[in-house]
Amino acid sequence: MEDFNEKKFTVVKNHTAQAGSIKQEEPFATNKIRLSGLDLARLEDLMEVWGEKKFRASQISSWLYTKNAKNFDEMTDIKKELREKLKDEAYISDVTIKKKQISADGTLKYLLEYKDKNTAECVLMRFDNRANLTACVSSQIGCAMGCKFCATGQRGIIRNLEPYEILEQILTIQRDTGLKVTNVVFMGQGEPFNNYNNMMEAIRLINSCLMIGIRRITVSTCGIVPKIYDISEEDLVPTLAISLHAPNSGLRSQIMPVEKRYNIEDLKKALKFYTEKTGKRVTLEYVLIGKLTDTRKCAMELAHFMKDLKCNVNLIPYNPVNGALEFKKPDKKDVMKFKFILEASGKKVTVRLERGADIDAACGQLRGRDCG
Ligand code: SAH
Ligand code: SF4
Repeated sequence: MEDFNEKKFTVVKNHTAQAGSIKQEEPFATNKIRLSGLDLARLEDLMEVWGEKKFRASQISSWLYTKNAKNFDEMTDIKKELREKLKDEAYISDVTIKKKQISADGTLKYLLEYKDKNTAECVLMRFDNRANLTACVSSQIGCAMGCKFCATGQRGIIRNLEPYEILEQILTIQRDTGLKVTNVVFMGQGEPFNNYNNMMEAIRLINSCLMIGIRRITVSTCGIVPKIYDISEEDLVPTLAISLHAPNSGLRSQIMPVEKRYNIEDLKKALKFYTEKTGKRVTLEYVLIGKLTDTRKCAMELAHFMKDLKCNVNLIPYNPVNGALEFKKPDKKDVMKFKFILEASGKKVTVRLERGADIDAACGQLRGRDCG
């Protein structure tokens, strides 16, 4: 089997990035082939090598990605012989649910365990008034960027997630709930642009296997400027959200170390490039920290910053994080005043609903630990 993997999954070159970047290293406890993360082209390769008809690949793909099969016995329209071969020589996934929490508002948080025993969270948000089901996925275990207000940032970086490990977060939610995820936001643990190639491959898989439209996929970054230029030139360009969080360099560098490397003016140039190149609007995320970033002065400066940028603004009232005692939640009236000033400048402003704060699933509260 190892030979087969070598031959088929590392040598095949003609399926470009999709095929090449899925590595079958250290198959799960055996020499079996992991199916999760193989797109249709790769499943077709597998069927060809097994001497099976091509259409079997579409059947398997549909069981894996549309019908959310948990085992091969469920794949009833696949002939018994092939099901037995699948059982002998393949497995679906090596990712398990270590813990599941349900918030009073219906938000679900999963702690997933990967085959090396590292863990990361994903969250499913339901909004009562909309049919959308949004999965918030992690791109790394931990994060190296060290933003002062963020629980993930306090943990440091452990490792990048592989493309299938990102895809599996959505599949796990679908298998567990029986629901179809309609939107994906890369707003869990990690800085997606520090894991750029795996993130892009995961986006391709989410788009082609799960059939989630690229306009329904959003990537949030703290502002890794060169990668903003790169993503603007991709064939598949997701919606971009930028963790701005302060309207000027001085304040931003107090709370976000990334500002010292890529400053707010260069960030703005990159955002203009993105909007011009792709025709898309960017979302500016702005965390309102009581008496620090929620002031009238900040609102005026932010309004000025946004003036010539094709953007929306998403205000996120700060969620308290252990260890960041110097920061407080904003007063409700200051949130409303801030919103009012920005709206007066003609931009669409939303205030992010606090989802799942009771289970530490809200923005910035994820840190991949069992203790919640
Ligand atoms: N690393 C990426 C993706 C994480 S998205 C990024 O920073 O954009 C998570 C969002 O929640 C980011 O906008 C992040 O800045 C914000 N956030 C982090 N800690 C928070 C907190 N304590 N309260 C509110 N928002 C927070
Ligand atoms: Fe990393 Fe984003 Fe948290 Fe900053 S806000 S530490 S970039 S996860």
